[in-house]
Amino acid sequence: MPKLDTDTLYVGLLGCGVVGSEVVRLLAESRIDFKARSGANLVIKKIAVRDLGAARPGIDKSLFTTDALSIVNDPEIDVVIELMGGIDPARDYLLKALNNGKAVITANKALLARHGDELETASDKADVDFYYEAAVAGAIPIIRPLSESLVGDYVTKIMGIVNGTTNFILTKMFETGADFDVALKEAQALGFAEADPTADVEGFDAAAKAAILATLSFHHTVTDADVYREGITKLTARDIAIAKDMGMVIKLLAIAENIDDEKLSVRVHPTLLPETHPLAAVRGAFNAVFVEAEAAGELMFYGRGAGGVPTASAVLGDLVAIARNLVDGRTAPATSDYASLTIADIGTTHTRYLIRLDVQDKPGVLAGVANTFAANNVSISTVRQTGQEDTAELTVTTHLATEESLANTVKQLNGLEFVKRIASVIRVEGLSA
Ligand code: NAP
Repeated sequence: MPKLDTDTLYVGLLGCGVVGSEVVRLLAESRIDFKARSGANLVIKKIAVRDLGAARPGIDKSLFTTDALSIVNDPEIDVVIELMGGIDPARDYLLKALNNGKAVITANKALLARHGDELETASDKADVDFYYEAAVAGAIPIIRPLSESLVGDYVTKIMGIVNGTTNFILTKMFETGADFDVALKEAQALGFAEADPTADVEGFDAAAKAAILATLSFHHTVTDADVYREGITKLTARDIAIAKDMGMVIKLLAIAENIDDEKLSVRVHPTLLPETHPLAAVRGAFNAVFVEAEAAGELMFYGRGAGGVPTASAVLGDLVAIARNLVDGRTAPATSDYASLTIADIGTTHTRYLIRLDVQDKPGVLAGVANTFAANNVSISTVRQTGQEDTAELTVTTHLATEESLANTVKQLNGLEFVKRIASVIRVEGLSA
């Protein structure tokens, strides 16, 4: 990257909403001595927004423009910080900025999970920095730990609580016994969930983050389309109560694991975890990423995964890093993408399961259920029965089995005349083999 030719770094922002406004505020407050930490003075030259009339207290009005292209094409601007979100037009703006030789910072996980490879390639070609620490788990340093600190190790598996909205809802359900709809309403009332919560509760947001984490951990480009995804909308208060009785919690996990150096399983789904697992203790809107690496062993990164101020901290960390690089005339190393892996079909993924079913309470039913599991090569670990009049509720946990065998088991159970309904199927992680 060319050396900064003055002692001043000119920055342009695309977006000044929840995160962007805090980036500007924190820089204006000068709580950190930017010059002392980076070697350069910092000037915010322009900020692109949609609505010039919106109130943005404390920010000089003359900085605002609705013309984002005037930022990405401004020859004086060294760094473009994209905090507008969405795929288009953000993708086009960032490609233009990179092609124009500007370093780029983004917090846009949706864009990275879809077009990260294209943006990385453009930054390599232009020999400029491309940083995105804020894109996964807000304030938690996880991008640089994976791409730098752990790059000398061999990561085998990653499991993350990377969506604060769903973790808030699941924590409420666990702690109060509330059903999903009630917990969602509370999350919306408190500002932890959007009016349209689909991206969070259906797991799209977590899937984008899973793709980014998998790409960095396994040196192979993974996009959001590669991620198997299930949200939390079907979970009931009964599922949570059963988990609690069994000494477990249910979390929405983003999981990425290397299978035999050949395949990558990348998935997002509700997951039962023993209460003793470090991720089980992550409550409310907090995030955490649990990493298993061959030499380092188990690591956990924990903190605030969203919010304007915490996320702005990660953006400013990127800004200081880029300023240091520009002052020294160097570029951060490119993300490696050499591994030749294929994405495992969800049907071949091995997991443990909990299956809850309502059956007629009569002799021979338990044996019929057990036989169906055995016929599909799914080994039962525990069975628990509770009864209500003529209906018995069976909660079966299994040893490791493929998704395909489990799906066949469920299909056959559904066809048995004494099975009234399969109430839920939930995957289990965090138990030793
Ligand atoms: P936000 O509050 O909706 O702010 C978006 C900003 O972008 C607004 O200032 C908006 O202008 C501007 N904008 C949108 N489209 C534009 C366009 N076409 N041209 C010019 N300006 C445009 O979003 P946010 O919550 O700050 O999130 C920003 C990014 O950070 C997203 O990628 C998000 O995924 C990521 N992120 C957010 C959080 C968080 O806690 N919020 C955490 C981690 C990562 P107006 O103000 O005029 O509408």
